[in-house]
Order: sequence, then structure tokens, then C-alpha cells
Amino acid sequence: MSSGKTDTSIKGYIEVDQELCKGCQICISFCPKDAISASDKLNASGYLTVFLNDSGQCTGCAICALVCPEVAIEVYRG
Ligand code: SF4
Ligand code: SF4
Repeated sequence: MSSGKTDTSIKGYIEVDQELCKGCQICISFCPKDAISASDKLNASGYLTVFLNDSGQCTGCAICALVCPEVAIEVYRG
């Protein structure tokens, strides 16, 4: 009998403000789900930004938003 429960139903998503992002990729390093990928698009400031990839793994844990030095990430759950 297991008392531990793995809740795989928790889903979330993020929105990255493409103009605030400086492309440092700290969020990619910290995301426990590998849900963020580097883009090949430059923003207006000339930085390669990041985006939520299509892995469907984001749990809305908000770690990425906490570590982003530019406060470029909004996290949504549900
Ligand atoms: S941590 Fe913030 S600034 Fe750095 S790549 Fe991620 S979204 Fe962009
Ligand atoms: S909210 Fe959590 S799982 Fe989703 S992209 Fe950010 S760090 Fe990854």
C-alpha cells in the first residue's frame, strides 16, 4: 500500500514576455520538467528568447518565474 500520491493531473502554463526576456536561459536550467526551450527568434533588443515547449509537462510550479531576473514569466495553473 502506498501513501505517496503522484499527482500528474496538475497542469500549468507560462507566458514569457518576449520583450522583457534577455535570453539568459536560467529558467531553462531550473525548470524541473524541461518545459521551456530556447527560441531562434530575436526580440527587439536582439536577445534570443525562450518559450513554453509543447511537451505538456508544465505543472505551474512557478520556479521559472521566481528565478527569472527580468520578471518576464507569468505562470498560470489549471
Ligand atoms: S530567465 Fe527570464 S530572462 Fe532569462 S531566458 Fe528565462 S525568461 Fe528570459
Ligand atoms: S512553471 Fe515550473 S514546470 Fe512550468 S515552465 Fe516554469 S519551472 Fe517549468
